[in-house]
Amino acid sequence: MHELSLLENVRTILEEHAKNQNFERVEEVTLAIGALSCVEVEALKFAFQSVMKNSLAENATLHFKTIEGQGRCQHCEKLTRMEMLYDVCQHCGHSRVDVISGLEMKITELKVS
Ligand SMILES: [Zn+2]
Repeated sequence: MHELSLLENVRTILEEHAKNQNFERVEEVTLAIGALSCVEVEALKFAFQSVMKNSLAENATLHFKTIEGQGRCQHCEKLTRMEMLYDVCQHCGHSRVDVISGLEMKITELKVS
């Protein structure tokens, strides 16, 4: 499952932060999820508990934010909002749009102790 490997990455990042910044527990995590990333929030919530079990983030509360999808049209070169991966340009209707943001998932906020 896609979500499991994403969360394993999150756990690794948290462990590295903990080492560098000297904290022991993560109380809250905010994950920003790209609107075009195909990540299922419900699946993430479900997998979070099992992936974080016996780690510093066990029992951490999970929050979500959305990173809006945005692309640049290859034809008119304007920025365009994207709700789906293969959306056409909102300005000229061209179908070749390079995704600039919205595919990524990242940790935006941490509450630690
Ligand atoms: Zn365009």
